[in-house]
Amino acid sequence: MEGLAELHTHLGGSVSSDILWSLAHEQGIALPVKDYWEFDRLVTIADPRGVADLNALDAIYHWTELIQSSPIAVERSVHAAIGGAYRSQGITTLELRFNPMKRNRGGERDLDHIILAAIRGLDRASLEYPQVNAGLILMMDRTFTAEMNAVIVDKAIRWAPRGICGIDVAGPRPRGERYLYRDLQPLVEEARDAGLGVTIHVGEEGGDAGIEEIGEVVETLRPDRIGHGILAARDPELMETLRATGIVLEICPTSNLLTKALPDEAAVRLTLRAFVEAGVPFLGLCLGAQLLTRAVGGQVGPHPEGLVEVGYVGIEPTPAGEPWFRGPMKVYEWHREGMTLPNCCEVLATNERYPVQAFRYGASAFGFQFHPEVTLEMKGIWTLSAAERLKSPGAQQRGVHLSMHALYDPPIDRWIDGFLDRWLATDVRRASDVLQAAE
Ligand SMILES: [Zn+2]
Repeated sequence: MEGLAELHTHLGGSVSSDILWSLAHEQGIALPVKDYWEFDRLVTIADPRGVADLNALDAIYHWTELIQSSPIAVERSVHAAIGGAYRSQGITTLELRFNPMKRNRGGERDLDHIILAAIRGLDRASLEYPQVNAGLILMMDRTFTAEMNAVIVDKAIRWAPRGICGIDVAGPRPRGERYLYRDLQPLVEEARDAGLGVTIHVGEEGGDAGIEEIGEVVETLRPDRIGHGILAARDPELMETLRATGIVLEICPTSNLLTKALPDEAAVRLTLRAFVEAGVPFLGLCLGAQLLTRAVGGQVGPHPEGLVEVGYVGIEPTPAGEPWFRGPMKVYEWHREGMTLPNCCEVLATNERYPVQAFRYGASAFGFQFHPEVTLEMKGIWTLSAAERLKSPGAQQRGVHLSMHALYDPPIDRWIDGFLDRWLATDVRRASDVLQAAE
C-alpha cells in the first residue's frame, strides 16, 4: 500500500496543542488558562467520553480559530497538520479544510493574506514531504450571510491554481432551524464550473430535518462527497439516491461517538449495518472488523487464557478464503480481543489463537483482525507509546516488530494492493462504472 488518504480534516482540529500553545503566546493572545495541560483540555477533546454535543465542539473551534487568526499562524498550522498526518499515520493524500473568514478577526486581516498564508504552509509541507499530495478546501458557514459565503467561493476559485481543491459548508444552524442548502446552489455551481470539488457537511445530526437536508443537498447541490451523512442510514430511499448519484459519504464513527452525533455504540452498529446491507463496500481493520462483527450480530471478547496477538503472527486461508489469500501469510497484529461471528459471515483466514482473522459479510463487507496499513514508523511509535502491551502474554518484543518488518512487509504490501482492487470490484452498486474504472 502506498499510503493512506484522509479527506475530512479540519484545520481547527488537527494541529497539536503544543504548536497552538506557542502560537497563542507568540501573538500575545489572552487565554483563559495559564497552565499548558489546562490549555490542552481547552483545545482538544481530551475526555475519552467525548464532548456533550456539537456546540461543545464549536467551543473548542472558537479557541483554535482565534489562535489561527493571522497569516503566520495559518501558515504554521497548515504546515504542521500536513507533516503531522504523514509522520504519525502515513497519510499521503490529504485534504485539509478551513474557513478563512473565521481566521481574519472579523475583517481586520486581509482575507487574501490568510488564504495565501495557508498556501505557503501547503507549499512548505510539499517541499518537506514530497510523498504527500495535499490540497485545501475553503469552507463556507451556515451562520454566514449569502454575501460572506459568496466571497469565500470567489476566493476559492481565484486561488484554485495554487492548491485550493474544493469548497464545503459547515457550522451551527442559525437559531437551530433547518438550513436552506438550496440557497447555496448558484455558488456551488460556480465552484463546480471552475473545476473545484464540492463536499457538504450535512446529515451528521438533526433528526428528521437532518435527513431532509441530505435529500435537499443531493438534489440541489449535487456534491461529490458529503461530510458525515450518517442519517441517510435511516432512509432506504435516500440511500438508493446516494447510490444512484455515486456520492461518497465521509464517515468517522470515532468522531460521531465523541461529538454524540451518534449517542452510543448501539447507534453506530445500526448505522454500519444499514450501509453494509445496502451493499456499501466496507473494509474494517482490527477495531473496524470488530465493529462490523458487532453490527451484524457477532460477539467480541478476550481470549480465554488472556493471550494477545501483538506483533507478527501467521494466518492461513480457509477453503472459502482461498480466492482471497494465496496461502499462509505473516501479518502484523495489535489486539487482545477476538471475534465470534454469526452464521451469516464467512471466515476467510484463521489461526489457532484467534480463529477469526479475516471474514466476509455479504458481497462487499470485509473485516481483518490484522493491520496491513501500519508502516515501520508507526510500529516504532506504537511500541513506545503503548509499550505496556508488549508485556501481555503472547506479545512479541519491540525488536521483533521492527526487525521483521523488512521481511514480512513487502509481501503484505503486494497482497493488500491486489486485495483492494478485487474488493472494490465487488461493488455491485454501479457495476458498469467499476468495470470501466478497472479497464
Ligand atoms: Zn467535519
